[in-house]
Amino acid sequence: MNLFEQYGLSEDILKAIKDLGYDQPTEIQKQTIPYLLSKEEDLLALAQTGTGKTAAFSLPILEMIDGHQKQVQALVLCPTRELCLQISKDIASYSKYLSNIRSLAVYGGSSISEQIRGLKNKPQIVIGTPGRVNDMLKRGALQINQIQWLILDEADEMLSMGFKTELETILKETPKERRTLLFSATMSKQVEGIAKNYMKGAQKISAGKINEVKKNITHKFVVVRDRQKNNGLRRILDANPDIYSIVFCRTRLETQNIADFLMHQGYSADALHGDLSQAQRDTVMKKFRLRNLKTLVATDVAARGLDVNDLTHVIHYSLPDDPEVFIHRSGRTGRAGKDGESIAVIRPNEMVKFNRIKKETAINVEEMKIPTKEVILQAKELYLSSKLLNSDFDTEEFELTGTPDLSSISKEELYKRVMFLELKSTWEFYKNEKDIAPIDKNERFSDRDSSSQGNRRERDRDRDRDRDRNRRDKKGGVKENKSRNKRGKKQGNFTRFFFNLGKKDNLNKVTVIDLINKNTKGARADIGDIDIRDKFTFFEVDSNYADQLLKKINQLSFNGKSMSLEIAQ
Ligand code: AMP
Repeated sequence: MNLFEQYGLSEDILKAIKDLGYDQPTEIQKQTIPYLLSKEEDLLALAQTGTGKTAAFSLPILEMIDGHQKQVQALVLCPTRELCLQISKDIASYSKYLSNIRSLAVYGGSSISEQIRGLKNKPQIVIGTPGRVNDMLKRGALQINQIQWLILDEADEMLSMGFKTELETILKETPKERRTLLFSATMSKQVEGIAKNYMKGAQKISAGKINEVKKNITHKFVVVRDRQKNNGLRRILDANPDIYSIVFCRTRLETQNIADFLMHQGYSADALHGDLSQAQRDTVMKKFRLRNLKTLVATDVAARGLDVNDLTHVIHYSLPDDPEVFIHRSGRTGRAGKDGESIAVIRPNEMVKFNRIKKETAINVEEMKIPTKEVILQAKELYLSSKLLNSDFDTEEFELTGTPDLSSISKEELYKRVMFLELKSTWEFYKNEKDIAPIDKNERFSDRDSSSQGNRRERDRDRDRDRDRNRRDKKGGVKENKSRNKRGKKQGNFTRFFFNLGKKDNLNKVTVIDLINKNTKGARADIGDIDIRDKFTFFEVDSNYADQLLKKINQLSFNGKSMSLEIAQ
């Protein structure tokens, strides 16, 4: 008898999970399934994607749900359309032998009237994004006042994407007697706030330590100057000819720029970020899943919900602020028992930040060098030769008509010529390229890339921030969204934004402040740091005004250019 059977799950559910090849429960399932089946309290679970958390909440709910009742009994909220579809697909496969159970996914970017029509089927389970669920509630199309289970999946992500107001509105519509199950990869202040205000007597569980590092991931880092980062990345890709990877960036702009660079150089790469339309995102993800794309350049948020299990590499093109995000990113590789490599490409002035990540996550990292032309050519040759000599080569049925007389040529010469044909373009490209020399340890913590005073000031400020943050975190941790304001302004909860206009668009502090004031209703919003760079800007505003600003500014344009505002990651 396996553990699933011991939990007392019904035959129909056992059969369905057996079809999926689930022999034994995962760690989180062991902690969650018996608890949900035997107790009535809420659940607060610290768990990341890939732990089996969908089955952890779905199986007990499917066991307990009443298939004869025709109202919504369970509502699952999750941050993205992709995750919504994934959960919906999983629930459909767990309930495939439960003929009375119906579920429906509702999310933005698709016709709302079609989804409202779906409600006519009387699903007992609705899986939705907070925005779309809210819309449906406002229209009176969806009733959730009878639900028994409310599941908040990836709660931290929903909150950091600015869905706090929507979540609270939804929570208020649900009955007090509901059972709330909250899953989150990180326990941010905002998540704690939701748990405190809307949950009762919750059992807290954690599926493995949050910082648990998977044993089969090798962590590497390489220090490289800003201006050499793109070529460094290119060399890393070249030195790994069989690569299937995600390159993580922090902003949409950076993501697009890196993807454009790689595509122009002829790499099988594309971008995935929030500025793309839903159809564009779907196409990119499909191509990546089918491996028609080898490298996906993505923001953290956009890469969520992408269920790909066999990545060979995760590359951190930019470091995240939060060490847990670093671990989360790295955990996208080394799945399903395979080995994986995580490579952080670090600017010299990011060493402080990287050391903090290293310390907090307790990962073992080895330093690597940007591959030289010899290393790249050797790696490519090894890859090709192992393909060439692969014993599975089944050429019997493959007939060639023009096989020439090969007696005048040695095997070695033939091999060399085949390699030459294949490697010629790489060889020619690197022939006159200077290798990227490692940066001396003394030069780290500074970046002598550019002599411009403004740039240096920007970098110093970054470094100061890193140090400040480091000290604060050591003291007991004021986290990211607290103001980093050093000019004596009021301290409070600030949201940091990334804005697509900068000095080149004639933006200055006065225009930024003016823009914020014009687009926040009521009392003046507190403004924190404003950091105007050449092509974009970071600024901080009181978090209470975040939603308003996002809604309004994204509809505006400045000197003919559409404004794009997003929460900085
Ligand atoms: P999740 O964390 O829910 O996204 O699940 C990650 C992956 O693990 C999915 O592909 C699931 O189908 C798979 N999975 C979940 N539970 C089990 C299990 N008990 N045994 C094997 N695979 C599982």
